[in-house]
Amino acid sequence: MNQEGMKPCSKCGVLTLLADLYNYGSKDTLWCQACVNNQYNAWKARNTLEEAVEITEKRCGVCKRVKPVKDFYKDRANKTGLRWCCKKCSDKQAKKWRRHNIKHIREYARIWQTNKRGGSNNDAD
Ligand SMILES: [Zn+2]
Ligand SMILES: [Zn+2]
Repeated sequence: MNQEGMKPCSKCGVLTLLADLYNYGSKDTLWCQACVNNQYNAWKARNTLEEAVEITEKRCGVCKRVKPVKDFYKDRANKTGLRWCCKKCSDKQAKKWRRHNIKHIREYARIWQTNKRGGSNNDAD
């Protein structure tokens, strides 16, 4: 099994000509061309993925329109670093949320005020 000028690849273990093995990191780490390629492709894929995050346009999750990135609020929690819906829709939603919640907020305030004034004088209908 001792083939001259051949060594197993440190990664996949396939016996490869020394001339076709590449030092990877340390002197004793020898990788075959396939493993080097795989590693490079994985690295490239990772980097492409990161590059892809830097998008110039994004589809709004509410109005479904593709808009430039500047039309989106930044959102660090998001993978793309942008809010899932555009500024316009965000503002609309915020307004809607406030309008919806202000009723509750007022209601709570009213109940609280009533309770404060009326004390334990709460008649049940
Ligand atoms: Zn290999
Ligand atoms: Zn939108």
